[in-house]
Amino acid sequence: MRKFFISIFLFLSFIAVLSSQNFNQYFTNKACRIDFHLCGDAKTTKAYIEKIKEEPYWGGRQHNLSQDLNLGEYRFQVKDSATNNLIYIDAFSSLFYEWQSTNEALKLNKSFEQSIQFPFPHAAVQISIEKRIDYRNWETLLQFSFSPNDKLICRNIPENLVVKELINSKSASKAVDIAVIADGYTATEQSKFFRDAEKLANSLFSHEPFVKYKSRINVYGIAAISENSGISKPHENDWRNTAVGSHFYTFYETRYLTSPHVFRIRDFAAAVPYDAIYVLANTSTYGGGGIYNFYALASADSDRAQNEVVVHEFGHSFAGLGDEYFKDKPDVLDDMYNTKTEPWEPNITSLVSFEDKWKADLPIGTKIPTQVNDSTKKQKIGVFEGAGYMTKGMYRSAYNCRMRTNDAKAFCSVCEKAVERMILFLTEKQ
Ligand SMILES: [Zn+2]
Repeated sequence: MRKFFISIFLFLSFIAVLSSQNFNQYFTNKACRIDFHLCGDAKTTKAYIEKIKEEPYWGGRQHNLSQDLNLGEYRFQVKDSATNNLIYIDAFSSLFYEWQSTNEALKLNKSFEQSIQFPFPHAAVQISIEKRIDYRNWETLLQFSFSPNDKLICRNIPENLVVKELINSKSASKAVDIAVIADGYTATEQSKFFRDAEKLANSLFSHEPFVKYKSRINVYGIAAISENSGISKPHENDWRNTAVGSHFYTFYETRYLTSPHVFRIRDFAAAVPYDAIYVLANTSTYGGGGIYNFYALASADSDRAQNEVVVHEFGHSFAGLGDEYFKDKPDVLDDMYNTKTEPWEPNITSLVSFEDKWKADLPIGTKIPTQVNDSTKKQKIGVFEGAGYMTKGMYRSAYNCRMRTNDAKAFCSVCEKAVERMILFLTEKQ
């Protein structure tokens, strides 16, 4: 028995040494970015590469390289070509995926920009980009190999931008690095941008678990300069020429604020080491958007719920949290999720694989579903029906949460734990 423990211990020590050596064995401290297009209609998805880039800083993790958290609509794997060893994995979602659920996608093929980033490899690698079939299964969209010596890998230096470290706690490899990019700020509005970016950081640091882990979070402000001040509002025939082309009225929804120019956003982000991107839009109009491991976007001077929207959108983009809101009555959005499989978002469940979600945290005797009444409204955790835009068949963990309404005071305990899990995953060895 003792021998067994010793061998386990040696094995674990070996793994620890191996993983700390792995990063330097396979990667440099620069980043590799793949720009590609997700194309298709409501039912088909294709991926086509545009270019491979070497960027100056890798701000992501240098540990847990071949582990993932089973999040996102897509994932990618990087394998060392010589040994076929998995050396990096990560997941993401896309604006394209959201567009696929619109009526337009029933009639039209479209192409959306998408980028992924991983540490720049020392030797040839094979990349596979995969799309989720269901909670546990994936299909390959695209597979390709490249050598880091390829002369056609773009190596142009990012634009010379004014960048400020607004919060600098730790070295990039041990911190969550958030790149805040200006959009709709002219050359004379740079100081306003840095003030607004600080306000954004303060919004995050008014919520747990960001308060608890403040010493592990770096925030950079990147003053991208726009020709026009303000943000485009297509529904009011108001178009502005801005650094990353953010606009309201995405998919014809007045409050939905996004930018289709993912490559431009990434070009600006490359000025710093980063794990997460936040585009700050110079407008007072209420709106925002956030997509997992893609970007978050919010108004800088929203006429309402500024703090709340900033944190809600970051919940989507940083931790892959799902929306907990839904319509009061069943409607067309009632098929947003397939209730026969578990959604990947950590804070909602169809109960199909509930054991992977917050089941173990439920107090003994919790009713499923939990009825809404004055006492359960105050309950920290339960299984409340109505989540992910759906009135029936999808469940959330608390009566109210930052991912449900602007009136909520904070993230519910399940969301808070999911954000914490991501911070720990990015900043320490699991
Ligand atoms: Zn929640």
